[in-house]
Amino acid sequence: MDIINQPLQMQQRALAEKRAGRTISFVPTMGYLHAGHLSLLEEGRRRGDVLVLSIFVNPTQFGQGEDFEDYPRDLERDQALAAQAGVDIIFAPGAREMYPSGYATYVDVEGITETLCGASRPGHFRGVTTVVTKLFTIVQPDVAIFGEKDFQQLAVIRRMTADLNLPVKIVGMPIYREVDGLAMSSRNVYLTPDQRRQALVLSQSLHEARTMVASGHNDAAMIIRQVQIRISAQPDARVDYVRICHCLTLEDQSVVDENSVLLLAVFVGQTRLIDNAVLVAAQ
Ligand code: AMP
Repeated sequence: MDIINQPLQMQQRALAEKRAGRTISFVPTMGYLHAGHLSLLEEGRRRGDVLVLSIFVNPTQFGQGEDFEDYPRDLERDQALAAQAGVDIIFAPGAREMYPSGYATYVDVEGITETLCGASRPGHFRGVTTVVTKLFTIVQPDVAIFGEKDFQQLAVIRRMTADLNLPVKIVGMPIYREVDGLAMSSRNVYLTPDQRRQALVLSQSLHEARTMVASGHNDAAMIIRQVQIRISAQPDARVDYVRICHCLTLEDQSVVDENSVLLLAVFVGQTRLIDNAVLVAAQ
């Protein structure tokens, strides 16, 4: 496994692999790998000849007062996990390599970036779309794998890839969960044991909503209210948003149907957690 820090070196290696007829699959991350990331790498391993993992805590997608400085980092541990997962190349640039002095170019996707996490975290998706565009240009992937855990991010990346005619196939992977249901996230390490227990309210609320839908309820406002009440019963939980949206447009829905996804963002203490689920079970 090779570790590359310089964008130009990564790009030259990627172009050489392609000239040699090999396909590249790519998993972009901010590191501090967990089993959710490993499920993406496993899919990437299957889908390409050369598997590239990027590890970059991207400053432009963090807002003022967010956790950029505190975001967990452990490159040594990540390297060991990546090697086990069959990664061929880790691309781990520094912020100065990605955004050298004088850097002035940003990619902006309109519309679907303005709701949900985009409304709560202004500028977040501009940072995401900018860094993903740069990473695609540097890594030259044929296939890129993203998690449905960041449901809106995946929708935004699909929109951007289509709009800019980027020659990359985008693959979404299901949310990987702890055995008790908590969606895996690098940020879960911020939770105290008591907050960790309270954080189960996210996956439990999703489960309850799916049960309501299965038993015939389809009034989105009523389901949202139930979920809000359930979350607010946890002493350290504060709802950022609870929304039922169309899975492609991310527009709010008033009546639940097979396209409905329930999206949650909840602060548990200082930690902002997100989770989501489609509401109608696949046949
Ligand atoms: P991050 O390192 O948090 O930026 O995530 C990198 C990639 O891993 C993104 O595509 C995430 O959606 C995905 N990911 C994060 N957590 C999970 C999870 N629990 N299950 C599946 N994919 C995940």
